Amino acid sequence: MSFSLIPNIRLNTVFDIKPDMLLRRNIRLLLLDLDNTLAPYSGQPPSDALNAWKRELESNGIELFIVSNTKTERAGCFAEAFGVSYLNRAGKPSPKMLRKAMILRSKNADETALVGDQIFTDILGANLCGITSIIVKPIRLKNPLFALRYFIEKPFRLLRKREGKKNE
Ligand SMILES: [Mg+2]
Repeated sequence: MSFSLIPNIRLNTVFDIKPDMLLRRNIRLLLLDLDNTLAPYSGQPPSDALNAWKRELESNGIELFIVSNTKTERAGCFAEAFGVSYLNRAGKPSPKMLRKAMILRSKNADETALVGDQIFTDILGANLCGITSIIVKPIRLKNPLFALRYFIEKPFRLLRKREGKKNE
């Protein structure tokens, strides 16, 4: 557990998360941020590509679990359509709900990772929890406030070389 804003792994999108990348780190539980990580804020259901990605991970023994800060029904609707468990009102960066998801799935910190698009909620929360933190680019930055936040977060993202890339 550490108060760190630096992700352990940096990728472009969730589709860059492959089963072997997780399995060689002994990760069996992947916690998922929802908004701007799995889908844009506008509320689309899971895409075919996302469903295929989920099946590939699950067929390799990796469980998925949504942990979202949303306060609306959106996380529940999306999680049901996606076929995964979820917790909303998670209050990330508090590690409380991340730990709850791990307890519900009987996994320890070494076996768990979280993927999200925000440094100050997802990555800080995962690092506080002692689990592997994976940052991806937000799907959409239409809102100027999101763009500003992304700009502020950028140095922390860039401190981690993109996974699978030799030079940057
Ligand atoms: Mg997000």
